[in-house]
Order: sequence, then structure tokens, then C-alpha cells
Amino acid sequence: MQVPTFEMVLSKARMLTPQVRELAFSRVDGAEVAFEAGQWVSLVLPTSSGELRRSYSIASPPDGSSRLAIAVTKVDSGPGSTYLHALEPGSRISATGPQGFFTRTRIKDPGPSLFIGTGTGFTPLRSMLLDAIAKGELLGMCVLLGVRHEEDLLYRDELLALAQTHGSRIRVEMTLSKGNDAWVGRRGYVQTHVREMWDALAARNEGTPHAYICGLQRMVSAVRELLRTDMGLGREHVHSERYD
Ligand SMILES: Cc1cc2nc3c(=O)[nH]c(=O)nc-3n(C[C@H](O)[C@H](O)[C@H](O)COP(=O)(O)OP(=O)(O)OC[C@H]3O[C@@H](n4cnc5c(N)ncnc54)[C@H](O)[C@@H]3O)c2cc1C
Repeated sequence: MQVPTFEMVLSKARMLTPQVRELAFSRVDGAEVAFEAGQWVSLVLPTSSGELRRSYSIASPPDGSSRLAIAVTKVDSGPGSTYLHALEPGSRISATGPQGFFTRTRIKDPGPSLFIGTGTGFTPLRSMLLDAIAKGELLGMCVLLGVRHEEDLLYRDELLALAQTHGSRIRVEMTLSKGNDAWVGRRGYVQTHVREMWDALAARNEGTPHAYICGLQRMVSAVRELLRTDMGLGREHVHSERYD
């Protein structure tokens, strides 16, 4: 089946952290953006160095509307992310998608979910989490978000509010790899905390948890290795998406 291409207009933008900009788009033709939480779109970016295509996970949950949001990390000397950080509201852009198989909806029995993301790798996991909440799913969910510094914690207030509203069902843990002395939370790479989070979800006796991992290749490989080789999880319980 051919993946559709459509025009979008940038309706709103805000900085989530000093390096991450959230961009909210609407389809110009007003049609629904039909996608599954966890999927991505490919954007055509007419930059000064030519037309580029870059992929971005959809950060918003599917809601039947013509809107979608992405969150973009500014990469040093990166033409695509620099272009998107400078894009003015009202600008139009062409998108192809949605695409990708990093979704929970294709899994028959998704079980409790451990969402492991670093930086903007958290965005497809945010879509999955908000989608599961909107659908009234009752199984345990745990978010493990890793960034370097406290100021890099994207969607922090939203996550803390969700954890508070949903009690023991939604657990949120954040870890800093370069936290300063004032940080009293978890430290180190996400890998350090994965086993503990997985064991806690498994102890809820709601079925074998599924792990969803997203971010840069080094982290994704390290976490996959831990879950698959050290902890002996089957491939059907470990799902991942890489950005590089
Ligand atoms: C399926 C998929 C989904 C993606 N979703 C997102 C997303 O939601 N948000 C997002 O910011 N990026 C995402 N990316 C990465 C994005 O497509 C671009 O690679 C990124 O914006 C850099 O493009 P650039 O032209 O600015 O830099 P380039 O000159 O193309 O530089 C690429 C380098 O940037 C680094 N890089 C790529 N992505 C990131 C990142 N998120 N954080 C830090 N370093 C990075 C990598 O090391 C890579 O080698 C996704 C990639 C894929 C394949």
C-alpha cells in the first residue's frame, strides 16, 4: 500500500527544553491524520543546502483530528533540525506517513509496559502512554526517561502530573547522566535502572511486561542486550526504534 503524502501547516511551537522544540501541525486539507501511537512521519525540508528528508516520531496521541505534534532536538550543525527550530508558525511543509511498526496496537496481548526513552526518543512513548490512558487501559505502565541535565527533562510536568493522577498504575522515573549536585533523583544511564523497573512491573502479576525502547543506537543496543541476553526476555517482549 502506498504511504500518503500530505501538506501540513505549523500551527504552534514551543521550547520543551533548551534544545528541544515541539511543533504542532495541522493538515492543510483538514483530513484526519490516521496513525498508530509510536509511528513516525517523513518531512520534506527545503533547507538552504537543498531538499532533505528527515523522520520524526509523532509525539501526540491519535485523536481522530487533523493535527499531530513532533518534538525535535537541535543537533549541532544538523541541517534538518536547525530548519525545524527556525520554522515560523503559518509555514507549510510536506509530510509522508505515518510509517513504522514500533507500536503497541499490533501486539495481541500488550501486558504491562515499560517505556524506556532518552531525549526525544521519549516522544513515541509519550504517544503510546497518552493513547493507552485515553483508551482506559488498566495495566501497569512505567516510564523511564533519561537525559543529561535536569533542564533537558522534556514533558517533565506532564509526566509527574500523570503519575500523581494515576497512582500506582503509572510510575515515572527520570535519570540524569550528568546531573548537578542539587539533583536528588536517579543518576546514570537508563540501563542502570531497567532491571529494577522491569521486576517491579512483573511483580504486579498482570502478565509478562513488554519493554519499548527508543533513542539513539548506543542506548537502544545496550538496553536490548540487557533485556534479551542478561535478563533472558524473548524477542516478542522487547520492542525498539532507533534514531541513528
Ligand atoms: C524513525 C525515526 C524517528 C525519528 N524521530 C525523531 C524525533 O522524534 N525527534 C528528533 O529530534 N529526531 C528524530 N529522528 C532523527 C531525525 O530524523 C534526524 O536524524 C535529526 O533531526 C538530525 O537531523 P539533522 O539534519 O539536523 O542532522 P544530521 O546532519 O542528519 O545529523 C545526524 C546525527 O544527529 C544525531 N541525532 C539524530 N537524532 C538525534 C536526536 N533526536 N538527538 C540527538 N542527536 C540526534 C545522530 O547522531 C546522527 O548521526 C528520528 C529518526 C528516525 C530514523
